[in-house]
Amino acid sequence: MLKDRTALVTGSTSGIGLGIARALAREGANVVLNGFGDPAEIERLRAELARQHGVTVDYAAADLAKPAEIEAMIADIEKRRGGVDILVNNAGIQHVAPVERFPTERWDAVIAINLSAAFHAIRCALPAMRRRNWGRIVNIASAHGLVASTEKAAYVAAKHGLVGLTKVVGLETARSGITCNAICPGWVLTPLVQKQIDARAAQEGMTPEQARLALVSEKQPSQEFVTPEQLAELVVFLCSPAADQVRGAAWAMDGGWTAQ
Ligand code: NAD
Repeated sequence: MLKDRTALVTGSTSGIGLGIARALAREGANVVLNGFGDPAEIERLRAELARQHGVTVDYAAADLAKPAEIEAMIADIEKRRGGVDILVNNAGIQHVAPVERFPTERWDAVIAINLSAAFHAIRCALPAMRRRNWGRIVNIASAHGLVASTEKAAYVAAKHGLVGLTKVVGLETARSGITCNAICPGWVLTPLVQKQIDARAAQEGMTPEQARLALVSEKQPSQEFVTPEQLAELVVFLCSPAADQVRGAAWAMDGGWTAQ
């Protein structure tokens, strides 16, 4: 379905982003991976994806906290592939602390990576999408883009901001073949969440098993994690012609979290 399209998935060396990159490659898109990690492991992933799906897979090392590196990454993709057709703004970090003790440096980093990076990537990628009158922008927000939790001031602010940005871009592209939507996942068991489970187990004297169940049950009525594979299929749907009129949406996949 996505043969000859070029997809950039930010933060795709791990977790949800990697699941999305795999699904887009399976659909025939050429993929650009991005994110941190062990260079040998990233190269292994890159080669594996290319071999499994017969598509071109590149890796861009841009640090998304730095707007100049985002600009350079997208300019480079445009030079080599004509432009980004599918932009998945997925890279994200978390920091947990009460607001009055929230380190200002962590606030700046969370806003830069979880919100401003999406703005920079969108503004740089849009002109080439407009030239071809086709594009898909999918912002990976969160249930925390729709509702709040304590001790996540920067994350909740960034994700609410990302949902707002999605609506604006959805409107500004409404009369074109470009769509912009957000996906709002509930808990997904990735390294980002494992850190929170480990912290809870240590604080509350629980086993990792108990901490995992406590974390997911507290917010998610299904008491089950969402998987990267399920989220990736929603991205594939948003890239399909059936989703041509899904615009500016914030689509929850959260085991019922935000239905409460
Ligand atoms: P993860 O920690 O497994 O992956 C994050 C990815 O972002 C990694 O590839 C990492 O290298 C990359 N990254 C981090 N900082 C970066 C930077 N400065 N520049 C470039 N890449 C950077 O996390 P995940 O759980 O897969 O999260 C992916 C997205 O999904 C995030 O935006 C997160 O907020 C969102 N999300 C996650 C959950 C969850 O429960 N895991 C729930 C809702 C939303």
